[in-house]
Amino acid sequence: MKQYYGNFGGQFVPDSVKIALNEVELAFLKFKQDKDFNQELKQLLKTYVGRPTPLYYASNLSKFYGHEIYLKREDLTHTGAHKINNALAQALMAKKMNKTKIIAETGAGQHGVATATAAALLGLECEIFMGAIDVKRQALNVYKMELLGAKVHAIESGSKTLSDAVDGALDFWVKNMKNVFYVVGSAVGPYPYPQIVTHFQSIIGKECKAQLKKINKNVDYIIAAAGGGSNAAGIFYEFLKDEKIKLIGVEAAGLGQDTPYHAATLTKGKTGIIHGMKTKVLQNEKGEISHTFSISAGLDYPGIGPLHAHLQETKRASYHAVSDDECINALKLLCKHEGIIPAIESSHALAFLEKLCPTLTKKSVIVVNLSGRGDKDMQSIYEYKKGEIYG
Ligand SMILES: *Cc1c(COP(=O)(O)O)cnc(C)c1O
Repeated sequence: MKQYYGNFGGQFVPDSVKIALNEVELAFLKFKQDKDFNQELKQLLKTYVGRPTPLYYASNLSKFYGHEIYLKREDLTHTGAHKINNALAQALMAKKMNKTKIIAETGAGQHGVATATAAALLGLECEIFMGAIDVKRQALNVYKMELLGAKVHAIESGSKTLSDAVDGALDFWVKNMKNVFYVVGSAVGPYPYPQIVTHFQSIIGKECKAQLKKINKNVDYIIAAAGGGSNAAGIFYEFLKDEKIKLIGVEAAGLGQDTPYHAATLTKGKTGIIHGMKTKVLQNEKGEISHTFSISAGLDYPGIGPLHAHLQETKRASYHAVSDDECINALKLLCKHEGIIPAIESSHALAFLEKLCPTLTKKSVIVVNLSGRGDKDMQSIYEYKKGEIYG
């Protein structure tokens, strides 16, 4: 398999890590084709995760915007977000490789919970790495992980968020390679992880395509939030070849992308290396990686999956940023009109409707990937006052 998506991706890691990555690559290439593995995964996705998730016609929101809007309901999966699709699949790989422990980095805590869940289900030990700030702002998820039997490490270095958690997990992996499998949570990192995560998340787009076909709809726009880029890659991938369909990724502009307080990697970043991959990176003139700012822990990442850097460069997909304020307004709008409390991350995708819909000249069919539910965010939403979270 190719290591790059166009000019982006690769394996920018020390040789010691390459040995571990080679093992993961061989396992992935094998299990991807393995009938028993795929059957077992399919069964678990159905009976444990709750797939297929519905494609829901949001009639009230559609009336509000004057377009046909559908929501792909990843928020209805077990553990409440798309991350379980990938965590469960990688954990199953780890088990088949006879690893005894899985580790993971986590931002909002969703990937940590998903990984701890998969570990409990499959009888694996589990250790989770999380930035100290995120540990604080997502305390409930930390408690969930511990309840599920995982050990949580709070990382006190750097900006104490997702980026630093990745460094912590990589460091642990290199020192404990023999028994440990690293479950990467988004379509990021050195090859083969972006490809693995995209493959396991592409179930979202596959289902969505079949569901649209069943109701005889041609979709015009697909919108997804982009943090590391896994839910966006998951819903985009199956539609890449159909160039008529416009793919839109939405990043976190925090206080605004013209302020220093944002996490808008593709809109504001430059090509660089981060966490073993070549991609767009938020950095200063000296090439130092910037701290990111967003109301959403799950979008607080100064890099982006290499597939998205490539889709942006080739203009197959476009990427935009929405602010904390716009996100919270969109969240409240969905609660009020549809009775669905979305995750703050997913609300970034919803917020783009407000920008897109007024520009459309004909009635359009729009799918928004509702990547997760908002239960974990209640405190942040309740306490939200513009700018205050940045101190
Ligand atoms: C983690 C998370 C995201 C962002 O991660 P991606 O890899 O970009 O998908 C988006 N939505 C929810 C609900 C999340 O938990």
